[in-house]
Amino acid sequence: MAFFYVLVLCAAFGLTVVVTKIWRRLRQRHYEVPARDISKGHRWCMTDIFSQPTYCNVSENHIIHGAFCDCCGICVEDENIKEANRILKCKELSTNHLFNRHHWLRGNLPHCSKCNVCGEDCGNLPQLCDLRCCWCCRHIHERCLKNASEVCDLGYYKDCIVPPNCVRLKLVGIKGRRHLVVDSVRAPNITGWKPLIVIANRKSGNGDGENILRSCRALLNPAQVIDLSEISPECGLEWCHLLPLVTCRILVAGGDGTVGWVLQAIDNLRLKVYFPSPEVCILPLGTGNDLARVLNWGDGYTGDIDVQDILHGMRHADAVKLDRWRVEVTRAKHFGIRMPRKTLMMNNYASIGVDALVTLNFHRHRESRPILFGSRLINKFWYFTYGTKDVLERECKDLHKKVTVELDGQSIELPEIEGIVVL
Ligand SMILES: [Zn+2]
Ligand SMILES: [Zn+2]
Ligand SMILES: [Zn+2]
Ligand SMILES: [Zn+2]
Ligand SMILES: [Zn+2]
Repeated sequence: MAFFYVLVLCAAFGLTVVVTKIWRRLRQRHYEVPARDISKGHRWCMTDIFSQPTYCNVSENHIIHGAFCDCCGICVEDENIKEANRILKCKELSTNHLFNRHHWLRGNLPHCSKCNVCGEDCGNLPQLCDLRCCWCCRHIHERCLKNASEVCDLGYYKDCIVPPNCVRLKLVGIKGRRHLVVDSVRAPNITGWKPLIVIANRKSGNGDGENILRSCRALLNPAQVIDLSEISPECGLEWCHLLPLVTCRILVAGGDGTVGWVLQAIDNLRLKVYFPSPEVCILPLGTGNDLARVLNWGDGYTGDIDVQDILHGMRHADAVKLDRWRVEVTRAKHFGIRMPRKTLMMNNYASIGVDALVTLNFHRHRESRPILFGSRLINKFWYFTYGTKDVLERECKDLHKKVTVELDGQSIELPEIEGIVVL
C-alpha cells in the first residue's frame, strides 16, 4: 500500500514538472509585436504652433496650430481630423504589393526641397503644393509625378527599414478586444539589411523619449517603434524571433535602467543562444548613463535630438561584446534560518556603500516628488546635493569594519573606506 502512495506521489510530482515546463515554454512564446490598425485613422499629435509654414491637408488653409500624424506626417486643422481619417490613408505597416510603391503626400515639404525628377526647387509656393514620399522622403513636383518611377526603394535608410510588402499582419484576441499583430516577416533583398528596432519610453527624458519615437515612426515602419509605456521590451524583441536569420539592431533610448531592462529581456528570450545576437545601440536620455558613456555613446543629449544623425552614427559604429555579471546577494541568517537568495544582473558596475547610498536616496526622493526632477541639469544638482549630504553625514562610516573582501579565496586588508565599487 505504501508503495502505491509513493508511486502516486512520484507521478503527481512528475506531472507538475512537465506542466510547468510546458507552461513556461508557452509563456515564452507568447510575445507579439503589436501593429496599429491604420484603417482606424492616423496617429495624431496636437501642436500649439507648427515650426514652419503649414497648410491643412484637408482644407488647404494656412494653419498655425492643429494636429499632425507622426507616422505619415500630414497636418490638419483640429476640426478636420475626422475628415482626414476618412479620406487620407496613413503610412501602411503591411501591403501585399509585389514591390514597394511611393506613398505620396501633398504639401508641407521641408525648406529648400529639390524635386527628385527635374532637380529644381519644389514645395516653395505659399500653398499646399508638391509631394513627399513618407517612406523614401523624396520630394517631387505634382507636374513631375507622371515622370517619376512607381517603385520606392525606401531611400537612404533602406537598410534599417522593414519594407511594408515584407510584413504580414494578423488579427488576434477575443471578440471585442481584437488587435493586429505582426504575423510573419520576410527579409527583403537589400544588401547589408539590419532592421532597426527602436525602444524608448515616451515619458522619459522630459519629452526627448517622445520626440525620438515620433521621428522614428516617420522614418521607419511604425511597427518597428516600441513605446515602453505601452509595450514590453519582450514584445519588441519578438522581431528577432520573426527574423531568425537576420541580425537585428536595437536602439534603446533611455537611462541605464531602461538599457538594463532591455538586456534582461534579451536574456529572458534566450536570443543569444538560438539566434544571431542582436546589436544594441544606446541613446542616453535622462540621468544615470554610465553604460552609454562606457560604450562611447556619449553621456546624454541636451537640446534637439536629430534622429537622422543618430542613424548615421549607428551605421559607422562597431559592435563590441559587453560583460554582464551575475551578483548573488545572500542575506544574513535570522534565527539560524537562511533567507532566500537574490540574484541581480550587473552591466557595468556594482557598488556598496556611500556611492550606492547616494543613488538610492536620489531614486527615493525622485519617486516621492517627481515634479522636482524636471530637467537633467536640476537632476544633476540634486545628485550633487545628495552626494555631499551623504558624504558629510558619513552614514557609511567604518564600512571597512563591516565588510570583508575576498579575491580568488584570499582575504584583502581594507583601508578606511566608505564605499566599494566593483568594475
Ligand atoms: Zn498618418
Ligand atoms: Zn518613396
Ligand atoms: Zn520636378
Ligand atoms: Zn518569440
Ligand atoms: Zn557616413
